[in-house]
Amino acid sequence: MRVSLPYALTAEVTHRCPLHCPYCSNPIELQKRENELSTDAWLSVLEQAGDLGVAQVHFTGGEPLLRPDLERLVLRAREIGLYVNLITSGVGLTEERIRQLAEAGVDSIQLSVQASSAELADSIAGFRSHELKRQAAHRIRESGLPLHMNVVLHRANLHQIEEIIELCAEWGAQRLELANAQYYGWALRNVDQLLPRREQLQEAEAAYLRARERFGYHLELLWILPDYYEDFPKPCMGGWGKLSLTVAPDGRVLPCTASSEIRSLSFENVKERDLAWIWNDSPSFNAFRGYDWMPEPCKSCDRRELDYGGCRCQAFLLTGDARAADPVCKWSPNRSAITDRIGSIENGEFGTPNYAYRGR
Ligand code: SF4
Ligand code: SF4
Repeated sequence: MRVSLPYALTAEVTHRCPLHCPYCSNPIELQKRENELSTDAWLSVLEQAGDLGVAQVHFTGGEPLLRPDLERLVLRAREIGLYVNLITSGVGLTEERIRQLAEAGVDSIQLSVQASSAELADSIAGFRSHELKRQAAHRIRESGLPLHMNVVLHRANLHQIEEIIELCAEWGAQRLELANAQYYGWALRNVDQLLPRREQLQEAEAAYLRARERFGYHLELLWILPDYYEDFPKPCMGGWGKLSLTVAPDGRVLPCTASSEIRSLSFENVKERDLAWIWNDSPSFNAFRGYDWMPEPCKSCDRRELDYGGCRCQAFLLTGDARAADPVCKWSPNRSAITDRIGSIENGEFGTPNYAYRGR
């Protein structure tokens, strides 16, 4: 089978983070500092990624600013010709740090925010960070770099969507990702605390559409679908091993950030294999390429070239079989894994959430 070239590398340089978001996409088993790749190993990853055809790198974590060698990695990525995006909580983004990152050549920074009010934001993050984020946004704008922001939306903050959009506009964002929580990792552990009701989502989507009209080109708004309420799954990652790859803090190479939770697969490590072999030839990257691996109902479905049977991680986490149709699909025999959950949310009474905070 002809294998396409990867376009983007997600470099998860650490799992360490001062925040404890209950929807964090990091795996339940977080990598410790002593397992993280060295600076030289990351430099080699970047060089191999450039040789493989990667055009952009997203430095993320955990909190990537906790790596003191981040500027060196950014500099090398730019020398190789990669577009460099930094995804950060903003905690630790001092004036000195932003100056060094800008000098190293970072192209854009994506800053996360948890809610519009400090009280709610800090309670979701499990850390007093909202004011630090405001300062970080100011510093990013002062440095002349474009400010992109993102918020993960869930039951506890959806009602603030208009205020969140206002806040990001006020802080100077040019782009805001309104990302409805995706239920893997910590978010799946907390799903009963995070999943909104359908009505709440519909109101939030209407508010997003109004804001899109109002802000026009001044603030680009992106709405990431809440897939539990869809009839069909998303074409996850644009196809397994098709467009992008992730290198985890310990050097394992993953088709997406959540895939380390698929226990039925083992993932190769850059400490033992080169990136090109892993991308082209490894069993994990070839496991779900093409369509031959699909069981029914996907195998004979007209939509399989649109959604590739949905998300492999979600299929594994909800059914125990990574080959199964994503249970979001209305034709999946496991659809009840979604509908039962939605049913209990629609009928439930909610008090103050009692999250399992990430990394605590
Ligand atoms: S989602 Fe929250 S806890 Fe997870 S890496 Fe981002 S800021 Fe840290
Ligand atoms: S049956 Fe499979 S390919 Fe068809 S829509 Fe559902 S998930 Fe997609």
